[in-house]
Amino acid sequence: MKKQTDVLVIGGGFGGVGLAQKLSKNGVSVTLVDRKNYFEVTFAMLRNVANPKLLGKMPRKLYGDFIDGAFIQGSVESMNDEEATLSNGEVIRFKRAIISSGSRYPSLPLAKSSSALNYADRNNEITGNQQTLASAKSVLVIGGGVVGVELAGEIASAFPDKKITLAHSSDTLLDNLKPKAQRKALEQLTARGVRVKFNRRFTKDGNVYRCSKSNEVVQVDMAYACIGMVPNTEFLKAELPGILDENGLIKVDSFMKVKGYENLYSLGDCATLDSNKHGYIASVQGAMLADALLKSAKGKKVKPYKTPTFALIAATGTDSGVAQMPFGVTTARFIVNLKQKDMGISNMYKIYGSEANQLN
Ligand SMILES: Cc1cc2nc3c(=O)[nH]c(=O)nc-3n(C[C@H](O)[C@H](O)[C@H](O)COP(=O)(O)OP(=O)(O)OC[C@H]3O[C@@H](n4cnc5c(N)ncnc54)[C@H](O)[C@@H]3O)c2cc1C
Repeated sequence: MKKQTDVLVIGGGFGGVGLAQKLSKNGVSVTLVDRKNYFEVTFAMLRNVANPKLLGKMPRKLYGDFIDGAFIQGSVESMNDEEATLSNGEVIRFKRAIISSGSRYPSLPLAKSSSALNYADRNNEITGNQQTLASAKSVLVIGGGVVGVELAGEIASAFPDKKITLAHSSDTLLDNLKPKAQRKALEQLTARGVRVKFNRRFTKDGNVYRCSKSNEVVQVDMAYACIGMVPNTEFLKAELPGILDENGLIKVDSFMKVKGYENLYSLGDCATLDSNKHGYIASVQGAMLADALLKSAKGKKVKPYKTPTFALIAATGTDSGVAQMPFGVTTARFIVNLKQKDMGISNMYKIYGSEANQLN
């Protein structure tokens, strides 16, 4: 028999969980489906891998331990505007669906796992990653965006004796941030002993890494490629190919409605709505869409989405970082600590009406 729900939320990341929680708490019948059985605060994963003692199991929590509405663990294989089919053949019929299937980082599965779909497997995966990292004497981090900068900083904090090289394809770190933030991040990483190489594009060549620009070769015990996210939207290609743009993002209007459909919505990393793909933006969008759906159910007018003011904190280790806030760039501890304290974990769970798991 087919399952029925009023609202189906596909993907329990920052956007989907916030939306599902808000709707459920307001009495709406919601079913959240995710291929994993746990929520995880992605921001915390780099520190989680570099230094297991600091965050332990705090970033992860079983959906079943804090989600108010129904939760189904399953991977959506295809969908149309009436029903979604899971990989086990189960079909869920819905009145409305919110597609918040986010993105993955194929080059860096430790950030968002592609294979550890159960809580215990993910804990083991993280432990395995920690052990591999601990045994390496030299590490190459490829990519000087926020993820690469944070990873280099976390490894340098946890293992001051390792030889760490951060290679970036352009001539400044954190390409999208202001020059002061780029400079400060470079100073902080250099002070930790990280060697930063600009204008390099390293790829694996046998058992070394070779730069396609300069032909320079580096030999390291391990490398992390922190480059590029891919939207998780392949499952839409069979029945809803017209809703995807050339980058695989779901085309939505300023009310987060999928273009051409009255009952499909999309938000977060998988949607075209905002060019900044950040967890805090996905969570703001989730809360806004929940409010909009609740309002429109009461016949009230709904305002279009407005991009939240840009703010980003990049940690460069456990006690340093740069923040680009609406008022300017700062390295002030009390601002950087907004993220540094526990990498935003307690704050995210608080937003979802819950609290983080214990350390161990
Ligand atoms: C290492 C790292 C550090 C980051 N640091 C920051 C930061 O400091 N601040 C910040 O704001 N952002 C940060 N980001 C970006 C942030 O993590 C993403 O923007 C955020 O995860 C997007 O949230 P989302 O809800 O759109 O999707 P996701 O978090 O990607 O969640 C999507 C969910 O959908 C599920 N799913 C996907 N496909 C299917 C399917 N077919 N069927 C069922 N379930 C499915 C997935 O399992 C997943 O749980 C960081 C990212 C990384 C990798």
